[in-house]
Amino acid sequence: MSLLNLLRWLEPQNCLLCTARVAANVDFCPGCERSLPWSRWACPRCAAPDSVVDTLEAVCGECQKKPPAYAYARAPFRYAPPVDRLIQNLKYHGRLEFSRVLGKYLAGYLQNLNDPPPDVIVPVPLHTSRLRSRGYNQSLEIARTVSKYLALPLNWSDAERTRDTAPQTELPRDKRRKNVRGAFKSSVAFSGQRVAILDDVMTSGHTVNALAESLLRSEALEIRVWVVART
Ligand SMILES: [Zn+2]
Ligand SMILES: [Zn+2]
Repeated sequence: MSLLNLLRWLEPQNCLLCTARVAANVDFCPGCERSLPWSRWACPRCAAPDSVVDTLEAVCGECQKKPPAYAYARAPFRYAPPVDRLIQNLKYHGRLEFSRVLGKYLAGYLQNLNDPPPDVIVPVPLHTSRLRSRGYNQSLEIARTVSKYLALPLNWSDAERTRDTAPQTELPRDKRRKNVRGAFKSSVAFSGQRVAILDDVMTSGHTVNALAESLLRSEALEIRVWVVART
Protein backbone atom coordinates (compact mmCIF):
# COMPACT_ATOMS: atom_id res chain seq x y z
CA MET A 1 0.00 0.00 0.00
CA SER A 2 1.45 3.37 -0.96
CA LEU A 3 1.72 6.17 1.60
CA LEU A 4 -1.02 8.10 -0.17
CA ASN A 5 -3.36 5.10 -0.07
CA LEU A 6 -2.51 4.51 3.57
CA LEU A 7 -3.39 8.11 4.45
CA ARG A 8 -6.62 7.87 2.49
CA TRP A 9 -7.44 4.66 4.32
CA LEU A 10 -6.87 6.21 7.73
CA GLU A 11 -8.75 9.40 6.97
CA PRO A 12 -12.32 9.54 8.33
CA GLN A 13 -14.97 9.86 5.68
CA ASN A 14 -18.68 10.61 5.29
CA CYS A 15 -21.56 8.15 5.58
CA LEU A 16 -22.63 7.26 2.02
CA LEU A 17 -26.18 8.41 2.78
CA CYS A 18 -25.85 11.44 5.03
CA THR A 19 -23.16 13.89 6.04
CA ALA A 20 -22.24 12.14 9.31
CA ARG A 21 -18.55 11.43 9.72
CA VAL A 22 -17.67 7.75 9.97
CA ALA A 23 -14.42 5.91 10.51
CA ALA A 24 -12.31 4.91 7.55
CA ASN A 25 -13.71 1.92 5.65
CA VAL A 26 -17.15 2.24 7.26
CA ASP A 27 -19.95 2.77 4.74
CA PHE A 28 -22.86 3.98 6.84
CA CYS A 29 -23.35 5.83 10.12
CA PRO A 30 -25.24 3.79 12.78
CA GLY A 31 -28.53 5.61 12.05
CA CYS A 32 -28.40 4.94 8.30
CA GLU A 33 -27.26 1.36 8.90
CA ARG A 34 -30.39 0.78 11.04
CA SER A 35 -32.65 2.23 8.33
CA LEU A 36 -31.62 -0.32 5.67
CA PRO A 37 -34.79 -2.03 4.34
CA TRP A 38 -33.94 -5.70 4.92
CA SER A 39 -36.42 -7.96 3.20
CA ARG A 40 -38.44 -10.19 5.51
CA TRP A 41 -41.27 -12.63 4.84
CA ALA A 42 -40.28 -12.96 1.20
CA CYS A 43 -41.53 -15.69 -1.11
CA PRO A 44 -38.81 -18.40 -1.12
CA ARG A 45 -39.15 -18.82 -4.88
CA CYS A 46 -39.32 -15.27 -6.33
CA ALA A 47 -38.16 -13.25 -3.28
CA ALA A 48 -41.17 -10.92 -3.48
CA PRO A 49 -41.22 -9.16 -0.11
CA ASP A 50 -44.19 -9.24 2.23
CA SER A 51 -45.64 -12.17 0.31
CA VAL A 52 -48.56 -14.10 1.59
CA VAL A 53 -47.13 -17.58 1.25
CA ASP A 54 -49.51 -20.49 1.00
CA THR A 55 -48.45 -22.93 3.72
CA LEU A 56 -49.15 -25.95 1.50
CA GLU A 57 -47.51 -24.69 -1.68
CA ALA A 58 -44.92 -22.69 0.28
CA VAL A 59 -44.72 -20.10 -2.50
CA CYS A 60 -46.64 -16.91 -3.31
CA GLY A 61 -49.70 -16.78 -5.55
CA GLU A 62 -47.77 -15.42 -8.53
CA CYS A 63 -45.32 -18.34 -8.40
CA GLN A 64 -48.20 -20.82 -8.11
CA LYS A 65 -49.94 -19.32 -11.14
CA LYS A 66 -46.83 -19.20 -13.30
CA PRO A 67 -43.71 -20.84 -11.84
CA PRO A 68 -40.60 -18.91 -12.90
CA ALA A 69 -37.89 -20.42 -15.13
CA TYR A 70 -35.28 -19.93 -12.41
CA ALA A 71 -35.08 -22.19 -9.36
CA TYR A 72 -35.15 -19.39 -6.79
CA ALA A 73 -34.31 -15.73 -6.25
CA ARG A 74 -32.46 -14.06 -3.38
CA ALA A 75 -32.68 -10.39 -2.41
CA PRO A 76 -31.35 -8.87 0.82
CA PHE A 77 -33.37 -5.66 0.50
CA ARG A 78 -36.79 -4.37 -0.41
CA TYR A 79 -36.57 -1.66 -3.06
CA ALA A 80 -37.18 1.11 -0.57
CA PRO A 81 -35.32 4.07 0.97
CA PRO A 82 -32.44 4.45 1.39
CA VAL A 83 -31.29 1.54 -0.81
CA ASP A 84 -33.38 2.75 -3.78
CA ARG A 85 -31.43 6.03 -3.66
CA LEU A 86 -28.09 4.23 -3.76
CA ILE A 87 -29.21 2.18 -6.75
CA GLN A 88 -30.60 5.19 -8.64
CA ASN A 89 -27.37 7.09 -8.03
CA LEU A 90 -25.34 4.15 -9.27
CA LYS A 91 -27.52 3.71 -12.33
CA TYR A 92 -28.33 7.20 -13.46
CA HIS A 93 -25.80 9.53 -11.83
CA GLY A 94 -22.54 7.74 -12.42
CA ARG A 95 -21.89 6.96 -8.74
CA LEU A 96 -19.94 3.83 -9.59
CA GLU A 97 -18.49 3.60 -6.08
CA PHE A 98 -21.96 2.54 -4.81
CA SER A 99 -21.60 -0.74 -6.70
CA ARG A 100 -18.96 -1.79 -4.19
CA VAL A 101 -21.11 -1.25 -1.09
CA LEU A 102 -24.22 -2.80 -2.70
CA GLY A 103 -22.15 -5.79 -3.83
CA LYS A 104 -20.66 -6.14 -0.38
CA TYR A 105 -24.09 -6.29 1.29
CA LEU A 106 -25.39 -8.73 -1.31
CA ALA A 107 -22.35 -10.99 -0.88
CA GLY A 108 -22.62 -10.90 2.93
CA TYR A 109 -26.30 -11.83 2.75
CA LEU A 110 -25.63 -14.72 0.36
CA GLN A 111 -22.82 -16.03 2.52
CA ASN A 112 -25.20 -16.32 5.47
CA LEU A 113 -27.77 -18.28 3.45
CA ASN A 114 -25.43 -21.20 2.80
CA ASP A 115 -26.98 -22.11 -0.57
CA PRO A 116 -24.78 -24.49 -2.57
CA PRO A 117 -22.54 -22.20 -4.63
CA PRO A 118 -23.22 -21.71 -8.36
CA ASP A 119 -20.54 -22.34 -10.99
CA VAL A 120 -20.67 -18.88 -12.47
CA ILE A 121 -22.23 -15.43 -12.07
CA VAL A 122 -23.87 -13.86 -15.14
CA PRO A 123 -24.82 -10.19 -14.72
CA VAL A 124 -27.90 -9.10 -16.68
CA PRO A 125 -26.44 -7.62 -19.87
CA LEU A 126 -27.39 -4.22 -21.22
CA HIS A 127 -28.03 -3.71 -24.91
CA THR A 128 -24.94 -2.19 -26.59
CA SER A 129 -26.73 1.09 -27.31
CA ARG A 130 -27.75 1.45 -23.64
CA LEU A 131 -24.24 0.48 -22.58
CA ARG A 132 -22.80 3.12 -24.88
CA SER A 133 -25.00 5.90 -23.50
CA ARG A 134 -24.54 4.93 -19.83
CA GLY A 135 -20.88 3.99 -20.16
CA TYR A 136 -21.10 0.99 -17.82
CA ASN A 137 -23.40 -1.81 -16.78
CA GLN A 138 -24.38 -1.33 -13.12
CA SER A 139 -25.17 -5.05 -12.73
CA LEU A 140 -21.71 -6.00 -13.93
CA GLU A 141 -20.16 -3.50 -11.51
CA ILE A 142 -22.07 -5.04 -8.57
CA ALA A 143 -21.23 -8.53 -9.83
CA ARG A 144 -17.49 -7.74 -9.82
CA THR A 145 -17.65 -7.14 -6.05
CA VAL A 146 -19.81 -10.21 -5.38
CA SER A 147 -17.51 -12.37 -7.49
CA LYS A 148 -14.50 -11.16 -5.51
CA TYR A 149 -16.12 -11.69 -2.08
CA LEU A 150 -17.52 -15.13 -2.88
CA ALA A 151 -14.54 -16.21 -5.03
CA LEU A 152 -16.81 -17.18 -7.92
CA PRO A 153 -16.11 -16.76 -11.63
CA LEU A 154 -17.87 -14.02 -13.53
CA ASN A 155 -19.05 -14.38 -17.11
CA TRP A 156 -20.07 -11.03 -18.55
CA SER A 157 -19.44 -11.67 -22.23
CA ASP A 158 -21.32 -14.80 -23.28
CA ALA A 159 -24.89 -13.67 -22.67
CA GLU A 160 -26.12 -10.67 -24.61
CA ARG A 161 -29.19 -8.52 -24.95
CA THR A 162 -30.20 -8.63 -28.58
CA ARG A 163 -32.99 -6.07 -28.38
CA ASP A 164 -32.94 -2.61 -26.84
CA THR A 165 -36.05 -2.99 -24.73
CA ALA A 166 -37.92 -0.13 -23.07
CA PRO A 167 -37.18 0.14 -19.32
CA GLN A 168 -39.63 -2.17 -17.52
CA THR A 169 -40.52 0.55 -15.03
CA GLU A 170 -41.91 2.73 -17.85
CA LEU A 171 -44.37 0.08 -18.99
CA PRO A 172 -47.75 -1.01 -17.63
CA ARG A 173 -47.62 -4.37 -15.86
CA ASP A 174 -49.33 -6.31 -18.63
CA LYS A 175 -46.77 -5.18 -21.25
CA ARG A 176 -43.66 -6.11 -19.28
CA ARG A 177 -43.48 -9.82 -20.04
CA LYS A 178 -43.80 -9.26 -23.78
CA ASN A 179 -41.25 -6.43 -23.70
CA VAL A 180 -38.35 -8.68 -22.66
CA ARG A 181 -39.46 -11.99 -24.16
CA GLY A 182 -36.64 -13.34 -26.33
CA ALA A 183 -34.46 -10.29 -25.61
CA PHE A 184 -31.42 -12.36 -24.64
CA LYS A 185 -29.19 -14.91 -26.29
CA SER A 186 -25.98 -16.69 -25.38
CA SER A 187 -23.03 -17.00 -27.69
CA VAL A 188 -21.79 -20.20 -26.04
CA ALA A 189 -23.37 -23.21 -24.37
CA PHE A 190 -23.63 -23.13 -20.59
CA SER A 191 -23.74 -26.94 -20.53
CA GLY A 192 -24.24 -28.36 -17.07
CA GLN A 193 -23.51 -25.07 -15.33
CA ARG A 194 -25.34 -23.75 -12.32
CA VAL A 195 -25.72 -20.06 -13.05
CA ALA A 196 -26.45 -17.13 -10.74
CA ILE A 197 -28.03 -14.27 -12.69
CA LEU A 198 -27.19 -10.99 -11.01
CA ASP A 199 -29.15 -7.74 -11.31
CA ASP A 200 -29.49 -4.55 -9.30
CA VAL A 201 -33.27 -4.51 -8.93
CA MET A 202 -35.98 -7.06 -9.64
CA THR A 203 -39.44 -5.64 -10.24
CA SER A 204 -41.86 -7.93 -12.07
CA GLY A 205 -39.12 -10.52 -12.54
CA HIS A 206 -39.76 -10.76 -16.29
CA THR A 207 -36.25 -9.55 -17.23
CA VAL A 208 -34.37 -12.11 -15.15
CA ASN A 209 -36.89 -14.75 -16.17
CA ALA A 210 -36.28 -14.05 -19.88
CA LEU A 211 -32.52 -14.32 -19.31
CA ALA A 212 -33.03 -17.53 -17.31
CA GLU A 213 -35.04 -19.03 -20.20
CA SER A 214 -32.28 -18.10 -22.63
CA LEU A 215 -29.56 -19.68 -20.43
CA LEU A 216 -31.63 -22.85 -20.00
CA ARG A 217 -31.93 -23.04 -23.81
CA SER A 218 -28.12 -22.83 -23.79
CA GLU A 219 -28.10 -26.00 -21.65
CA ALA A 220 -27.52 -24.42 -18.23
CA LEU A 221 -28.34 -26.93 -15.49
CA GLU A 222 -29.92 -24.62 -12.95
CA ILE A 223 -30.54 -20.90 -12.63
CA ARG A 224 -30.86 -18.82 -9.53
CA VAL A 225 -31.28 -15.04 -9.33
CA TRP A 226 -29.36 -12.67 -7.11
CA VAL A 227 -30.52 -9.07 -6.82
CA VAL A 228 -29.73 -6.29 -4.39
CA ALA A 229 -33.33 -5.17 -4.04
CA ARG A 230 -36.78 -6.51 -4.84
CA THR A 231 -40.02 -4.58 -5.24
ZN1 LIG B 1 -25.72 8.29 7.66
ZN1 LIG C 1 -43.18 -16.00 -5.45
